[in-house]
Amino acid sequence: MNITGVIQGVGFRPFIYTLAHRHGLTGFVCNSSLGVEIEVQSSSTDDLDRFCYSIESELPPLACINSLNKIQIEALTEESSFHIVESLTDNENPETFPIIPPADSSICNDCLSELFDPKDRRYRFPFINCTNCGPRFTIIKKLPYDRSNTSMQKFALCSSCASEYSNPKDRRFHAQPNACFDCGPQLTFEPGSYNGEEALAKAIKSLKKGEIVALKGLGGFQLFCDATNSSVVAKLRLRKHRPTKPLALMLQDIDQAKKYCDIDTTSHELLSQSKRPIVILKKRNKFALADNLSINSDQIGIMLPYTGLHHILIKDFGGPLVATSGNLSEEPIACTNNEALQDLKLIADSFLMHNRDIVSRYDDSVAYCVTNKPILLRKARGYAPDAINLHFVCQKNILALGGHLKSTFCMAKGKQAITSQHLGDLDDIKSIDNYHDVLEQYQNMFKFKPDILARDLHPDYASSRLAEQIAKELNLDCIPVQHHHAHIAACMTEHQLTGTVIGVALDGLGMGSDETLWGGEFLLCSFDSFKRLAHLAPVAMPGGTLAIKEPWRMMLGFIDSFEKESKNKFEPFLERLKHNENETKIALVQKQIDSSLNTPFTSSMGRVFDAVAALLGVCTHQQHEGQAPAELESLARPHSNSNIQSYDFDLIETDSVNQINTQAIFTGIASDITSGLPNGLISFKFHQTVKKIISKTCHQIRLSTGCSVVCLSGGVFQNRLLLQLVEEELTMSNFKVYFPSAVPCNDAGLSLGQAAVAAHSR
Ligand code: ZN
Ligand code: ZN
Ligand code: FE
Repeated sequence: MNITGVIQGVGFRPFIYTLAHRHGLTGFVCNSSLGVEIEVQSSSTDDLDRFCYSIESELPPLACINSLNKIQIEALTEESSFHIVESLTDNENPETFPIIPPADSSICNDCLSELFDPKDRRYRFPFINCTNCGPRFTIIKKLPYDRSNTSMQKFALCSSCASEYSNPKDRRFHAQPNACFDCGPQLTFEPGSYNGEEALAKAIKSLKKGEIVALKGLGGFQLFCDATNSSVVAKLRLRKHRPTKPLALMLQDIDQAKKYCDIDTTSHELLSQSKRPIVILKKRNKFALADNLSINSDQIGIMLPYTGLHHILIKDFGGPLVATSGNLSEEPIACTNNEALQDLKLIADSFLMHNRDIVSRYDDSVAYCVTNKPILLRKARGYAPDAINLHFVCQKNILALGGHLKSTFCMAKGKQAITSQHLGDLDDIKSIDNYHDVLEQYQNMFKFKPDILARDLHPDYASSRLAEQIAKELNLDCIPVQHHHAHIAACMTEHQLTGTVIGVALDGLGMGSDETLWGGEFLLCSFDSFKRLAHLAPVAMPGGTLAIKEPWRMMLGFIDSFEKESKNKFEPFLERLKHNENETKIALVQKQIDSSLNTPFTSSMGRVFDAVAALLGVCTHQQHEGQAPAELESLARPHSNSNIQSYDFDLIETDSVNQINTQAIFTGIASDITSGLPNGLISFKFHQTVKKIISKTCHQIRLSTGCSVVCLSGGVFQNRLLLQLVEEELTMSNFKVYFPSAVPCNDAGLSLGQAAVAAHSR
């Protein structure tokens, strides 16, 4: 019998061993490069059937079966017992990736109860783990997953740990990171070089004093501070250069989380599963924590502790903690003790560290739920890497390098694709170096050699340049893939769609095939091609990227595109702007627009949200990416049951492409503001309008093409209010609606989409 899936490094062989003994079967089990091979001998087919049934129904917690193939063979030798034999060293299969162990997993319940059992030999041992839990890819240097190939290699097992490790009946049989106080990693605290329990006590004291503690977590350093203390939160924001972006919290358990957030069943499951992502939740109306944790937002990210160290820390501290990544704004998180002591010295007051190396950087993953579906926004610790099964075959090995923001890469081979963890924005040299390192590590680890490369159509993305460079070095082809085509292809791949779909790709910006900036696109899409059937009417983006940071510029861009009579309606708003912005600056921007100097045009939906936020006076300067739309969403949510209608908009047919003109939306908003309608209602009315634009355009496309399958993707759909409204509306109109959930809808999903498009290119 051959089994494939996540079945190595999860206690699968001892599980089979135990099962075989229970069913009175003889034979053996071993790992191979293709999965796990089992040979069982029995004269009774009933016994064999029961055995197979038990395999699937009693799987170890971290195991997951992809395929189970049985063949009947003649027994060459009669086995007298059942045993675990050494790994088979068979030839590698060129069509599949080597077997991938599971990603890092939070501490399991068995380990957790040992952790707080004073009689257990691992009582309060921060690095406790077993076959069913603990670190994986954060400590793996190369495959196969053996202790000698991890950063646990330097810790020689003591005799107690060694006997657990070699006993198939023990929960720690072949638990590669197995350790205890006698043989495992040790905590240290700086300043002062304290160890063990003293180090912990010092860290707690530091937190209680209102200080910021840098803690060496699983995939990198995290910054912790008291979540009830707004002055330490303010200090953290200032030092980390993170003025507004919400900070995540670590709470002791679900009950504590319920005190501060509304938690639906799906979010509950998501929070407590072993992957332990940060889950974005709605704050309770009376939110009794520091008010500067999430500013102008009704949401906050919550995670539960996932290592022994986290559990001890939060229990000893006894209250909610801020837990945010240990980096300076968007740089990669600090990984080594020296890196942390150097890079975080101006942020953290103290450091709780240890001597187990983090081999690979992994941020915390981020997810939320929409209509009872979990949706991943950032795929990192606990989720990556994993193999995605493809419903098509890649004839060549494809390496797709993704986008520029929220970068990831994807390796595809045969019927599988592996995407990297979130590697951040490629704006600084540290991030680009990290991207490079992880790419090299993956290629070595998964023994992957590309035959062809894929990249974004934008030639100046750091990832595009790297793709071209690799292609040149290896003398390979490099396929540019249009940004929004890739967004939709990623969604199609996740949901295993074939044929043609209506792709609604709404995002910030991506280069279009006409070399202008797209972002409000309705595409008739298949994997091998797409046709742009409708889009938002392009408007000026004065100052280019500066217009993204400063939505008031975008507002001027929109106003400029309107007819003369409509423009007059905005006089009072321009007057208001003059009070808040430097007048010469405004004049300069106007001049920029008039002379088309550094003023590209864009059809982006993200920019419409920005300009609306500026018009409402909600957000004229964005301190972090997506701030303006997030604030609009928060304002609108309390009104989501109101029966307010929508603003008008025009669909203008030109040749075969429809353009959506937003002038009437903006004039409508302007008169609503003047007549005193509250911002929340206006914002909800605007959300309703975007929904209507999408549904009306999809109806039109269905009429002309007969296609009724819709894929929604692009960063704009990180707005869960909008996603929910659109999904409901389209489903009600008998569209079959898909949106990415296992793959992020933002630019982190591009690499998978690029790989899928490249696989279909001829
Ligand atoms: Zn465990
Ligand atoms: Zn030990
Ligand atoms: Fe995008």
